[in-house]
Amino acid sequence: MQTSTLSIVIPILNEEDVFPHLLERLDTALAAFKPALEIIFVNDGSTDNSRALINAAAENHKAICGIHLSRNFGHQSALTAGLEHATGEIVVVMDADLQDPPELIGKMVERIKAGDDVVYAVRRTRKEGALKVACYKLFYRILKYVSKLDIPLDSGDFSAMNRRVVDTINDMPEYNRFIRGIRSYAGFKQSAVYYDRESRAAGEPKYNFVGLLKLAGDGVFAFSEYPLRLASFAGAVVALLSFVGGLSLLLWRLFSAQQLPGFATLAVSIFFLGGVQLICVGVLGEYVGRIYNEVKRRPTYIVESTVGRDS
Ligand code: UDP
Ligand code: MG
Repeated sequence: MQTSTLSIVIPILNEEDVFPHLLERLDTALAAFKPALEIIFVNDGSTDNSRALINAAAENHKAICGIHLSRNFGHQSALTAGLEHATGEIVVVMDADLQDPPELIGKMVERIKAGDDVVYAVRRTRKEGALKVACYKLFYRILKYVSKLDIPLDSGDFSAMNRRVVDTINDMPEYNRFIRGIRSYAGFKQSAVYYDRESRAAGEPKYNFVGLLKLAGDGVFAFSEYPLRLASFAGAVVALLSFVGGLSLLLWRLFSAQQLPGFATLAVSIFFLGGVQLICVGVLGEYVGRIYNEVKRRPTYIVESTVGRDS
């Protein structure tokens, strides 16, 4: 592969509708960076025409290359593939749907050249539905609260990084890759640029609610032991409550002539305790499942073929 100064990594899952717009906007926004430019499209197992579009683009533009993964591995794995293949001194990661404006790249790159190691884009506003926006906002605040890391609020994967940060991230061996988290973990000199996030230019969002929930879980469980502590805390609270409850029942038995109501109290406390225990086992399971995934040491992605830039 030829070396380049600026690499742009873009994961693609069924983006045939948006792809022509994307090429156009990239072409205008990045004209100044040619010929030291490399655009890597990571085809994450698309089942539409995206593959052919990427191949054609790679044929027609010297700067463009494509990595076809052997199946759908997920957004974060596709980003990982792109980061590991990027040769640039500066690497930008962005989504294909033009929610991350390519026009911002120039500013980010300038900052990196001025000495920053990471420049991440922060969403000042976003155009999704009110409920989705509220969930995003809540998630980033919870993550910041539970994690010891200083993960910036409302910043996604859209960012520019210099070579030493990209190498640092590529050296991290973990299988569960929450890129915006490991980017913070890497440290160095990081700064923010602010922008207003547009809605998707074309096509459907590829994350459904369950997908977003999983991503949120990956963020929380990979960067915090807080849920485990919460489980211990819940245990302590329940134990304390039952001690107080037991004591008051004893006093009742000793000093009241009234009969103790038995069945209802018993049933409620069994269900309550059962619920608390199941939640705690679930929390434990989240960690155990992730440990299992890590120890299997399976690859995060598998490349089927590459096109363009002398492959
Ligand atoms: N994507 C991917 N693999 C997936 C899901 C998404 O490569 O399994 C890509 C998708 O093509 C897009 C980016 O990841 O370029 C972000 O996806 P999307 O815009 O659907 O996510 P949202 O904006 O809803 O977070
Ligand atoms: Mg999007």
